[in-house]
This record gives sequence, structure tokens and C-alpha cells, in this order.
Amino acid sequence: MDVQNKHIVVIGAARSGLAVASLLKRKGAKPFVTDRNELEPSVCSRLAGQEIPFEHRGHTEKAEQGDFAVLSPGVPTEAPLVQRYLNSGKEVFSEIEVASWFNRTPVVAVTGSNGKTTVTNWMDHTWNLAEIDHHTAGNIGYAFSDTIDTAQEKQAVLLEVSSFQLDHIRSFHPRISLLLNITPDHLDRYEHNFDKYAAAKFRITENQSSGDWLIYNYDDKTIAGHVESLKKKEDAPRLLAFSGRQELSGIDGAFVRDQQIILTFNREEEILMPTTDVNLSGKHNLNNGLATALAARASEIKSDVIRESLSSFEGVEHRLEQVRTVGGVRYVNDSKATNINAVWYALDSFKVPLTLILGGRDKGNDYRELADQIREKVHTVIAIGEATPMIEEQLKAIVPHFKTADTMNEAVRLGKRNAKRGEVVLLSPACSSFDMYENYQHRGNEFKKAVNRL
Ligand code: ADP
Repeated sequence: MDVQNKHIVVIGAARSGLAVASLLKRKGAKPFVTDRNELEPSVCSRLAGQEIPFEHRGHTEKAEQGDFAVLSPGVPTEAPLVQRYLNSGKEVFSEIEVASWFNRTPVVAVTGSNGKTTVTNWMDHTWNLAEIDHHTAGNIGYAFSDTIDTAQEKQAVLLEVSSFQLDHIRSFHPRISLLLNITPDHLDRYEHNFDKYAAAKFRITENQSSGDWLIYNYDDKTIAGHVESLKKKEDAPRLLAFSGRQELSGIDGAFVRDQQIILTFNREEEILMPTTDVNLSGKHNLNNGLATALAARASEIKSDVIRESLSSFEGVEHRLEQVRTVGGVRYVNDSKATNINAVWYALDSFKVPLTLILGGRDKGNDYRELADQIREKVHTVIAIGEATPMIEEQLKAIVPHFKTADTMNEAVRLGKRNAKRGEVVLLSPACSSFDMYENYQHRGNEFKKAVNRL
């Protein structure tokens, strides 16, 4: 796409929006940034310094005058300004789409409902061990647009991609795509329609062809259904499946047999390593490790390096992060668990009795989906935040002790009082954090502070 002298309106001045505006400016376009909220003075001076015109605290008619619009991922398609673009027949693109117009470096792109950041970081760790010069971008520090000017000197761009970014692609084309899992999340942005949300995630494969790879979760029925229809397509990407639950036969991929991770390529099996050598615990992390191993293998990284990576990766902050052991009780911060599925896997990864701190801003959760895990190992639920009444209604009858707390400090103290030596106090909230905190990192940090005060 030729952007020279084009009037391009960037809607939303968060990190990706600012990065794409700056990229467009460098490439000779005429970007205009518009944000309905007030921008920080530092953001305003950054834009002014780059001579990028902008407006904030609302959209004026200038915001309507772009040849096309680019969306920051936080801006929903339903926003009236976006709708006006679409209704007038003008195109709307996401930041990754625009960045991809200028990128010549192979992209490894990860999407899914849970595990994207973990797998992107795990790949980053692997590519570092393999000494492959690469960029890592997406949700982690940099936007794809930030990498463009130096990406051409690198061998790969590892990219975390949300369904919102995929909503507005046209030619975005990963050399390797990873579809980790699809479970309900963010349904509020997809008219509460699971199929629409899943369809957005599948778009990651839309422009792939037979020179590319799709790595997918064999055990996820929604994904498996998509792969079946993909197989019928001429020029479909090559497929690699991973399964933490069953042996794969007749297809290439990664699975577990007798507690050994097996990789199959060109139908030839290789025993990679025992599952017990994988450093991160939990079935979900075994899946994440299998996906990472396949991405590495498709990138021709040697087995020794893959083994080293799987046995040394320490995980990412706020994802089942071990904080401290006090009086024989372990405190674990899983603040990033903002949906039921992530909490289910968190609970599944423990064998000892648990005290669970749950709650925040409810996303329409059905907490009873956790009932089997709670009955088996949780003796105390401590509810916090706006979701407290919902949690109480749905879980009080299931769990032996139900308590509520007004602050994180109080929740942690209650946790201490209820847990015995050898047990775990887990923050895994299933909710977003915005009722009490700026974001999930803030919530996790407050949990850690409270634990460190014990
Ligand atoms: P994302 O970037 O997709 O939000 P993260 O890697 O940040 O995913 O993990 C989010 C939450 O989901 C954490 O609580 C983590 O422990 C949990 N999680 C990570 N991988 C998986 C998986 N494969 N399946 C289910 N839950 C997972």
C-alpha cells in the first residue's frame, strides 16, 4: 500500500496508535491522531515533536477526513467514528496490518484466548538461546510498528496478536501462526457472540499459504473445526498440531507419551525430553511449551536448544508467579488470570489445598464452571471487588469457607489466617481489575506488597 501523502486518521493514542502514527509519518504519509479522551502532556509533546497533528477530548470533523483510518486495539469497531468510516465505504485497518505493509521479515504470530504473552516470551527465550537476532513485539513493550525500521536486519519478528488486532487486517501474513486456544473472553466486544470472536482469531491464517505453518491446539474443538475446513483450501499452510491430552498419529506435531514429549516431523518421531523437565508447572504450560517447541522446530532451531529452553524458562510476571513462602504457606500471584478458563488451569496446576482470592470487575462469568476444582482442593474462597455478590451467590454453597475482603491487604491477611503449612494462597481473580486498580499489573503488585508485609 502506497501511503505517500495520504491523509490517514489514527483513532486512539495508546501505545500501538502512537507507534503506527509515527511509522506512517516516517513513511511519508500525513497522519492525524484523534482520541476521545484527554491525553497525557508527555503524549502531546511526543506527537508535537514529531510534527504529527492531533486532537483529544473528542473527535471533530477533521477526524472524518482521512483517506482511511487506523485503529488502536483498544478502540471497538462499534465506536461511532469507526462506524462512520465503514458506512462511507472507507477502509479501517489495525496497527499490525499497517506495519505489515512495510515489513519484509518473517513473522511468527501468536493468538488465542490465554497464553499469548507466555508463549511469546517463551519463544523469545528460545530464540535468544538459539542466538537468532529477532524482535519481540505485540503486547510486550513494543508495537509491531516500532520494530519496522530495524526489522529488516533481523531474522524474525515474534508477535503477540489479539483478536482486536486481527479484526481489521487485510494482507497481514505470518510465516508461522500459532492458535493456542479459544474460550469465551472479551465477548462484550463481539456482540456476545462466540462464533464472531472465534472467527476473528481464525483470521490469523487468512493470508497464509503452503510455504507457511499453522501450529494449532488439537484438543480445542473450535480450532480443530476450523482446521478441517482449512484443509479443504487449496494452498493451505502446513499444519503442526499439539496435544497435551492424546497421542497424535498420522499427523505432524507434538504430544506426550509415557511422560515424554514427542515431536513428529515428516511423520518421523523424535523423543524430545521428559515432561518432568519442563520448568513451568500446570497442564496449560505444558501446552504452551509444546506450542513453543513446534514454533522453534518450524524455524529450524535445534532440539538441544529447544530442550534447554523448555527446562529453563521461568514464566512471566503475574502469571502463576511465586511470590514468597511465609510460615510454610506459598503465595502465588496470578493476577493476569482475567477469565474463568485461566483460573481453572491455575487451580488444576496445584496438588495441595488452596485459599483462592477471586473477584474484581465481573465479565459475565459463570463461577460455577470452577466447581469441580473448588470441591477438590479449595477450602476457602475470599471474594474481592464488584463481583463479590455474584461470587457469593454462585460459590458460597460449594466451598467450606466463604469470606469477603474490602482491600487486597485484608484478603491476604485473611488468607494467612486460613492457610496451613504446606498450602497455597492464590490470587487468580477471573475478573478484570478496573474496579479497584489501574490494570492487572497494579493489582498483582498490590498483592505482592501485601504478601511482603506479612
Ligand atoms: P494472554 O497473553 O493470552 O492473556 P498470558 O500468558 O498472559 O495470556 O496468561 C494469562 C492467564 O492465563 C494467566 O493466568 C496464565 O496462567 C493463564 N494461561 C496461560 N497459558 C494458558 C493456556 N494455554 N490455557 C489456559 N490458561 C493459560
